Amino acid sequence: MTYITLANKWRPKKLNNLIGQDQVIFSLKNIIESKKIHPAYIIHGPQGTGKTSLARIITKCVNCEKKITIDPCDNCFCCISINKNKNIDSIEIDGASKTKIEEIKNIIEIAQYKSSNNRYRTFIIDECHMLSQSSFNYLLKTLEEPYINTLYILITTQIEKIPKTIVSRCINLQLNKLNKKNIKTHIENILKEENIFFDNISLDYISIFSNGSLRSAINTIEKITSKEKIINTKNTRLMLGILPDLSILFIIKSIHEKDIKNLISNIKKITELGLNNKTILIQIQITLYKILLYKSNIIYDESLCKYKIFMYLSKVMTKEKITNLYNKLIDITIDNNVINEIDFEMILINFSI
Ligand SMILES: [Zn+2]
Repeated sequence: MTYITLANKWRPKKLNNLIGQDQVIFSLKNIIESKKIHPAYIIHGPQGTGKTSLARIITKCVNCEKKITIDPCDNCFCCISINKNKNIDSIEIDGASKTKIEEIKNIIEIAQYKSSNNRYRTFIIDECHMLSQSSFNYLLKTLEEPYINTLYILITTQIEKIPKTIVSRCINLQLNKLNKKNIKTHIENILKEENIFFDNISLDYISIFSNGSLRSAINTIEKITSKEKIINTKNTRLMLGILPDLSILFIIKSIHEKDIKNLISNIKKITELGLNNKTILIQIQITLYKILLYKSNIIYDESLCKYKIFMYLSKVMTKEKITNLYNKLIDITIDNNVINEIDFEMILINFSI
């Protein structure tokens, strides 16, 4: 039997399964329930937010054999074949590899013939910002005079690269980057359904480091649990390349106490591990945030050892100091994807003097 990845297995199959996208769901429900099916859509938003899943859901909504519906049955031939990406009238085009006009034209020209089974033939063009100018011109002509019973669904992470003339002819469906809470709730449900043991702190880490992408969070779960069905802080840390909380707390303590000798010794130990320096700076950011919460008497469920250091730092560090360090780290981590070893040392030493 073919192995199905967790990301595919848990791909949203209904509009209501899309998390954190209420506005898009609302406007699509209005369109579908009115039965006035517009021929062109552009779905855009960050990676891993469900763009391709949404395109397939729209395809099912208009083609479900029961009726045009916001709640496709997932049991009829059309729904099942679309879910498996094996429906001959639902054509997915990778805009990144088929950029030339001839390639796009060859595929889309089939629209002049009646579809085999579906009510609507759909062309889903993924990564459409990669198309050439002549392909865009051809697409524009197609959208100006669309064939009857044909839907064009464009998908992109970079809507600013799509000509305005094309965007203006499409229903605009913007998917939001998911917040940590949404991702955590969703992966928690998946883990329960899959009978995978987990702890709360690990889920926090996976949600934070997925950077708003549900797919990335699910892929992390899949990698961690490839050998045994358990997610704990040890295997999560190893997979994400992050340090134990205690190491981070000791770095912050050295920074606050201006103990440069100790700080350098800690930095040396970290750099020997070969971890991603940006990830460690983000961990420091998260820990500073937690210290601020401790200051407001919001106490996390930590081990006694961590609890003592958190309590100590929350007493000796002022709110201004914590916020100041936090903001500096945001500026650094937003602007730089890669932080080399010497910059990493400089940043931390600078914080302590
Ligand atoms: Zn159906």
